[in-house]
Amino acid sequence: MTASRTDEIRSTCPYCGVGCGVLLRPDAHGGLSVRGDPDHPANHARLCSKGLALAETVGLSHRLTAPQIEKQSSTWDEALSLVARRFSETIAEHGPDSVAFYVSGQLLTEDYYIANKLMKGFIGSANIDTNSRLCMASTVAGHKRAFGTDTVPQTYEDLEEADLVVLVGSNLAWCHPVLYQRLIHARKRRGTKLVVIDPRRTATCDDADLHLAIAPGADVPLFNRLLAVLHDRGLADKAFLRNTQGYEDALAAARQDDPAVTGLSELQIAQFCDLWASTEKVVTVFSQGVNQSTSGADKVNAILNCHLATGRIGKRGCGPLSVTGQPNAMGGREVGGLANMLACHMDIENPRHRRAVGDFWSAPTMPAHAGLKAVDMFRAVGQGQIKALWIIHTNPAVSMPDAASVRAAIASCPFTVVSDITDATDTARLADVLLPASAWGEKEGTVTNSDRTISRQRAALPAPEGTRPDWAILAEVGRRMGWETEFDYGSAAEIFREYAALSGIAGEFGLDFDISGLSGLSDLDYADLAPTRWPVCRAKQGGRFFSDGRFFHTDHKARFVPVSYRRPAAKTGPRYPFRLNTGRVRDQWHTMTRTGLSPRLSAHLAEPFIEIHPHDADRLNIGPAGLVRVESPIGQAILRARITDTVQCGQVFAPMHWTGETAPAARIDDLIAPACDPVSGQPESKASVVRLEPF
Ligand code: SF4
Repeated sequence: MTASRTDEIRSTCPYCGVGCGVLLRPDAHGGLSVRGDPDHPANHARLCSKGLALAETVGLSHRLTAPQIEKQSSTWDEALSLVARRFSETIAEHGPDSVAFYVSGQLLTEDYYIANKLMKGFIGSANIDTNSRLCMASTVAGHKRAFGTDTVPQTYEDLEEADLVVLVGSNLAWCHPVLYQRLIHARKRRGTKLVVIDPRRTATCDDADLHLAIAPGADVPLFNRLLAVLHDRGLADKAFLRNTQGYEDALAAARQDDPAVTGLSELQIAQFCDLWASTEKVVTVFSQGVNQSTSGADKVNAILNCHLATGRIGKRGCGPLSVTGQPNAMGGREVGGLANMLACHMDIENPRHRRAVGDFWSAPTMPAHAGLKAVDMFRAVGQGQIKALWIIHTNPAVSMPDAASVRAAIASCPFTVVSDITDATDTARLADVLLPASAWGEKEGTVTNSDRTISRQRAALPAPEGTRPDWAILAEVGRRMGWETEFDYGSAAEIFREYAALSGIAGEFGLDFDISGLSGLSDLDYADLAPTRWPVCRAKQGGRFFSDGRFFHTDHKARFVPVSYRRPAAKTGPRYPFRLNTGRVRDQWHTMTRTGLSPRLSAHLAEPFIEIHPHDADRLNIGPAGLVRVESPIGQAILRARITDTVQCGQVFAPMHWTGETAPAARIDDLIAPACDPVSGQPESKASVVRLEPF
């Protein structure tokens, strides 16, 4: 390991799922300098614009430093006692399913673990869900259906060893920039072919050999055609297929789909299939364009079906790779942060798993069924079924679909607690109790990135007086609810050891997530923990899964999932003729509570906008930089027009970052209907319908 300067502290970037290592050096004025960690396997010293601007986003001006009850400052003792009492009373009167936690991929694994333990093991409900539901839930569902567990088989190095990389629904150049830099670097060295499948011509297409501007939501028929072509060319790997089930059914379903619905020409489809079929080392990267869809899980399985059919999985430079949006979306999945999972990839509806976790925790009760997923959770809040709600490090008042209804639901909830580092969010303003949390750069814990690498986040700055780490807040509420011994933690290291020991049970059940080799870390070992790819146990250390043809269903065989095209839930028509796609811009993150503090980042794209094709703008008499009223069946927004042929005729694109604080009329999620994938519960954020008119 390259020595960092002695005054530098190794940590991890708090933004995207690439999980870049950073070296932090505190200055004498309470600030930091930040550079990329040359020894971190995710980035090897690289950082993108957001990582490089991290130093501009620390500081105390925007921080919440004392709890608030009904907008009045209070002591911690008053606030925590009130939270514990109101949750206990609500549970006693209405049962455990009358309360809920909505948490975040911004949480560190240790925080996530305690939240999950408190809700599932002690409150006795599975009503804990996370904003990862908006991000990667379709991938989780697709992985579980195919592999038996939520396993990411590939690593970032595979991108550099592939001869063909297919990016599906991913603007990697803007959304995972360092991974994109690694890919382009490798492409220059070895001539990697690059295919981008995306309705928009994004910055990622600049380097592509082939851009397939697919119709929104039509990925399943494209990959179904590929599966049929692979079979017809005799490329199905007969030996590998012995490790699988359901190939013939998946193939039959694939043949039923009409690839014409992709909007691509036969020639384009043939070019894609030829490239894929003729290249052994192919990595298919997929992201939100696949996940944020009412057929998201099916899209994932359509991709996995092609890799399974050819045995192109779990090998060097060869397999499917989902890239997560958030810094700890993977850690959240691993601790069971989703309402339908248990910790360490165990299943909430499996009685043996449930009993084992309950025994390990000495839990008085464990829920036998999945809890409410994000959209259903806020619907239940609005309908009065959830009477006490705790929202941690996320801003659902503007980031959930049908955000106006979510704001109304939170406002109507009898008791809402919000933990955050600031009171200046739309969600924080709706809180009955506001709890000031420690921020990135001040707290200790771990995160897991998109290729299963666990990295430390470390404190480089003192936490402002009055703030506390999330695990400590959650554990204190657990103690005040009566579980004093079970939530008696003194450090993040202690929680990590317990979590790692619990994962050994998952290993005994034959599951993938086993880091029991880290359960004996001393405090010093934990402090020094270097980036480590799981699993870490006696049976296996890091590396790849599935190269041995063994999967995690009970018979160790992978499953093909027969999938067929389903169009997006909302239909375009005379009243709403445009298809609205949403996404990120290069230099902002989520609802801008951190990146919005950096003048440098705000200079890239300074205000909310909507991209409109020149023909459509002309027809509607919308001029460059003109204001546009955008109306969907459930809401409206006013946005600045960017007239560009990067979007197709009949389609528009708007970023999702701007919120009530910065631009009240530009809340994109007020336009998005809460239609969800029936398998994953993930909302369809990329295929709404809208009408446009000059404002
Ligand atoms: Fe941070 Fe992602 Fe940029 Fe890396 S690529 S510096 S993790 S935002």
